Order: sequence, then structure tokens, then C-alpha cells
Amino acid sequence: MTFGQGKIWYDGKFVDWKDANVHILAHVIHYGSSVFESLRCYKGDKRSAIFRLDAHIDRLYDSAKIYRMDMPFTKEEFTRAVIDTVKINKLQECYIRPFAFRGYGHMGVNPLKNPVNCAIAAWKWGAYLGEEALEKGVSVCVTSWRRPAPNTFPALAKAGGNYLNSQLIAMDAIEAGYEEGIALDYFGHVSEGSGENIFIVRNGVIYTPPTSASILAGITRHSVFVIARELGMRIEQHDIPREALYISDEVFFSGTAAEITPITMIDHIKVGDGAPGEITKKVRDAFYDIVRQKTEDKHGWLAYID
Ligand code: PMP
Repeated sequence: MTFGQGKIWYDGKFVDWKDANVHILAHVIHYGSSVFESLRCYKGDKRSAIFRLDAHIDRLYDSAKIYRMDMPFTKEEFTRAVIDTVKINKLQECYIRPFAFRGYGHMGVNPLKNPVNCAIAAWKWGAYLGEEALEKGVSVCVTSWRRPAPNTFPALAKAGGNYLNSQLIAMDAIEAGYEEGIALDYFGHVSEGSGENIFIVRNGVIYTPPTSASILAGITRHSVFVIARELGMRIEQHDIPREALYISDEVFFSGTAAEITPITMIDHIKVGDGAPGEITKKVRDAFYDIVRQKTEDKHGWLAYID
């Protein structure tokens, strides 16, 4: 199924894509009150499998907890519903969007009187930053928009409202001719892209900003830690000053949508020699070997679609 077709799981039942609607006075539309996840399902030689389903479900429920949303389904029910959504739509490779939102009932900022509705959609979605990006890398800028200061918007929650900040970052970069933007945090350290975590490589060591740098704790980011260590690489969380981006040997993004995307140019300055670096390529290849079932799933990261 492509975007716009098939069935959507909505509050426990499958409905046709065109019937998965909300009232225009639903709380979420006015106040950004939703929490969501992004997952990918990949096809191996024989079967398809969703990458890190359990970790995504855990993060969805963590995001809901931060915003005091009582989820009307158990994690087990939600997990099953994600798999069923892929199955019912006969998708072998897809992007999956489970979410929960404050629905219709009461107007006003206080969300607590509104129902919590849940839905899951899935569709085919290719490379997020373009097919060429994964091979050749992308050109990005450091945007003048900052990520939210601590104690403002909780960055660890993957909440709809946070993505107004991401939209400003992305629009600023794209309008200026770049493929993506990198934002600094409140203190001026490197934070992340509009929808990706960032890693730099210098003298053979991989560094990435800590969770205190107003980042989303990416599940691909965590996978990069595990993969890099298994490949015998050194990887650390560290505050990263902006100028470290310019003098890095390699820089790359990680994310469910962007997967592992090399960054080859930042603010018109070449990263290394301007081509995807060796460490980036090794991590990327090891990542694809896992998701496409070419190597053993040592960590139980794949949820097979039976
Ligand atoms: N940061 C932001 C702001 C994101 O939206 C995403 C995508 N979910 C990420 C980082 C990467 O997270 P993950 O690897 O879990 O997709």
C-alpha cells in the first residue's frame, strides 16, 4: 500500500484510510498534544521484520507518561496492533507510524478531560533524505534556530508539539538550499537534526551529543552504539562545539527515517575530503546487514511478520 491507501488501526479496529478522521476541534489540532513513533519494517530473504519494535513501543509509552496520557491499550496490545497493521496492508517493506493524541471533547489548554485516541498507519516510504543521500551524503547547515532549553519542551518525549521546532529547522535549511539543518542546544553545543541524531568522527573516535543536549534519545542512535562497539570502534557521548563539525573527519546522521546518512558538507565546508568516510560506511553497512537479515540478530532487534 502506498500513502493514502489501505487500512489504519484506529482505537482498536481497522478502518479504511479515508475514514480515519478526527473532529476539527480535537485538542491535538489546537495544542499539539500527541505522542508518536516512527518505525521501519524491512524485507530479508524470506521474511519481513520490524526493527526494534519493543524499544519504539517503550518510548511511545514513556512519551505518554511525560504528558500524563493514560494509554487505553497495554503495550502488548499495541505491539500486536503494529504487526497486524503491516500484515493487513500486505506490506513487506514500510514505514510505520503509531501514535496517541488528545481527542475531542473539551476546549482549553488543560488536556486532561479529553479522551486519548490511538492509531497506527503504515505505508511505503523510501529514503527520507533522497535515494542518493545514503550513498553520496548530504549537504547541511547549522540553523539559527535552537533546540528547546532544558525545562521547556521535554526533548526525550517524542511529542507532536516538539516538531514545530523541527519544522523551523528543516524549513530554514531547505529554503537556503541545504538538505537538512543541524540545531545547537540552549548552551550552544551541537544538538541534532530536525529528525535525526548526529555523530562526528575525529582521529578514529566517534562522538555524539549526550541526552542532556536536548536530543531525542534515538533508537537508531542506540543501535549505532552497539554496532560500533561490536566493530571494535570507540564511541562516546560528549558535548560538541559547533566548530568541531567543520574539523571532523566524518559526520553522519542516524534515524529511523534517515537510517545512516553521511554528511559531506556543513555550512559549505567540506567534511574530511567531502566523501562519505570509512567509519560511517562500516557502521552503515553493518546496520543494513542486521535490518536486512544478512547477519544474525544477536540482540533480538527484529520482530518478524509471520
Ligand atoms: N531526533 C529527532 C528529533 C527525531 O525526530 C528522530 C526520529 N525519530 C531522531 C532523532 C532519531 O530517532 P530514531 O533513531 O529513534 O528514529
